[in-house]
Amino acid sequence: MATPAFAAAIPIFNTFVHPSAHDRVAEVLTTTFLSEGKLVKEFESRLTSDLGMSNPAALNSGTSALHLAVAVAGIGPGDEVILAPQTFIASAIAIVQEGATPVFADIQYNNGNIDPASIESRITSRTKAIMAVHWGGYPCDLDEIHALARKHNLVVIEDAAHAPGATYKGRAIGSISDYTCFSFQAIKHLTTGDGGALCCPDSAVATEVFRRRWFGIDRAHSPVSEIGERVYDLTDVGYKYHMSDYAAALGLANLEGFQERMSYRRQLVQQYQQGLQNVAGVTLFDHKDDRESAHWLFGFHVDNRLEFIRALKAAGIASSVIHDGIDKNTLFGGKREELVNQRRFDETQIHVPLHDALQPEQVEYIIDTIKKGW
Ligand SMILES: *Cc1c(COP(=O)(O)O)cnc(C)c1O
Repeated sequence: MATPAFAAAIPIFNTFVHPSAHDRVAEVLTTTFLSEGKLVKEFESRLTSDLGMSNPAALNSGTSALHLAVAVAGIGPGDEVILAPQTFIASAIAIVQEGATPVFADIQYNNGNIDPASIESRITSRTKAIMAVHWGGYPCDLDEIHALARKHNLVVIEDAAHAPGATYKGRAIGSISDYTCFSFQAIKHLTTGDGGALCCPDSAVATEVFRRRWFGIDRAHSPVSEIGERVYDLTDVGYKYHMSDYAAALGLANLEGFQERMSYRRQLVQQYQQGLQNVAGVTLFDHKDDRESAHWLFGFHVDNRLEFIRALKAAGIASSVIHDGIDKNTLFGGKREELVNQRRFDETQIHVPLHDALQPEQVEYIIDTIKKGW
């Protein structure tokens, strides 16, 4: 069979920019109102109306959202936060930044998410929070995690960088836990170039988030005096984490057709799932019916992974582990052999292309290439 022309390179990600973004961003440049203003507000209200997020505060990155969540939750030196290693280092950096310690629980081998059964034995008198990362956009077992959090009086922080638009038992991710953090980085589903959001259903906590995202000054209640400065009294540490209007303009443009893009992803995922079931050497991840993934990634387990990666590369197809267990880093204490499922996952997980520019014919070609063996 001749290699199709598009096989030159099928990347694992793409960056989606809606055609209307050029005009919308250009308009902001013309007004020269570049910093946080009415477009940030409009973007936040669209995140609520379109994606079901609770009190989203738009920020300059997903990492800022994670750090602000840890800071506002009052997590500090001596405290511990339990999370899974199957994530990007940003999740644990946010904990270390406040002087606290990331404590790693094991994952579920069949999807990469934190295993609730592995959490309780790691809870100590110092534990303040559980951080749940929805790997690839597939929601964690939130009921079980919340039951543990209630029992031990812990805060739940979701790292939902992969999960905008996902649902758990009919509820939107971004409306469930004390803190939910999203990323609008360039290769995420919904991009503002760089950006993020922090959602807190409790309105008093949300008010603190809005204040501390901008130095700790309450913008709405700090009028500019006659001598020309805002009137405020700084009571605690705030950050320069707000989103800017030109980024919000890009985000607003990219929200157009978001649900259609998500259903297109679902369609591609179904095509992969059907095409790859019963392929020798491939074990698909489990997906439960009570939750809907945002499908940022399409991952599975594969035998002889390096051979698999090379065979796909020879056929012009990118594949990647994306990340393996972050506990291996010196900053986080080094690789934990007792995390048995994480170590198995590190050896066998792989992800193949999934993005807005991917065509069904390309998915067919990828499936056919895999079926030929490696
Ligand atoms: C992308 C990502 C982040 C960080 O988001 P930024 O917007 O790049 O700061 C955090 N956690 C996970 C799991 C991510 O994939």
